[in-house]
Amino acid sequence: MGHPAASAPDSQEILRSAMVVGAQRLSALGLNRGSSGNIGVRLAQSFLVTPSGIPAEELMPQMMVEMDFSGTVLGSGKPSSEWRFHRDILAARADIGAVVHTHSRYATSLACLQRDIPAFHYMIAAAGGDTIRCTPYALFGTQELSDLALQALSGRKACLLGNHGMIALGADLKAALALTLEVESLAQHYWTALQLGEPNILSKQQMQTVMEKFETYGQGKG
Ligand code: 13P
Ligand code: ZN
Repeated sequence: MGHPAASAPDSQEILRSAMVVGAQRLSALGLNRGSSGNIGVRLAQSFLVTPSGIPAEELMPQMMVEMDFSGTVLGSGKPSSEWRFHRDILAARADIGAVVHTHSRYATSLACLQRDIPAFHYMIAAAGGDTIRCTPYALFGTQELSDLALQALSGRKACLLGNHGMIALGADLKAALALTLEVESLAQHYWTALQLGEPNILSKQQMQTVMEKFETYGQGKG
């Protein structure tokens, strides 16, 4: 008799580990630091969110906090102070499986101007429309901030949070992290272009054709 076969980790264990790896990657890339930012991921009837106030480097899979959609912690742990916007986005958007929030340098700098990112580059369409909206300021961790974020995310997969940071969404965590990196890169390009002059803004028609072309962009999509 050999050793008993290790049981395959269930999907929640895989997701908890992926959240830790994702948070640590954002920190390693300089998109978050200390305990800034957080991640939420949908489960079948509930969701997981990173714990509040713990630096990414100290996160462990078992620290991810499971909550139901009424906002009750299932099990133990103190959830991210931003659990409301994680819950509200996942509740409102059936197409979304993961929510990433960062205080990344360029997105946050633009958010401090409370400036929407216009269609200065065609990749703005990756966030679902022809702008990335910025919310007015609201205190972190409040229902007011969640309501403003949900509004700014209408028809979009990313927004800036006024005087705070940004949120990016995806069908799964991999997609939400990829969009986070894309939005930060767009914010950096916009900021850089603004140093040189007034960027040319693509027209609604030009952005419409980009969005149509995105429908068949990539492998296995026609
Ligand atoms: P948490 O550590 O509570 O997730 O808060 C970080 C943050 O970015 C608040 O907006
Ligand atoms: Zn924040």
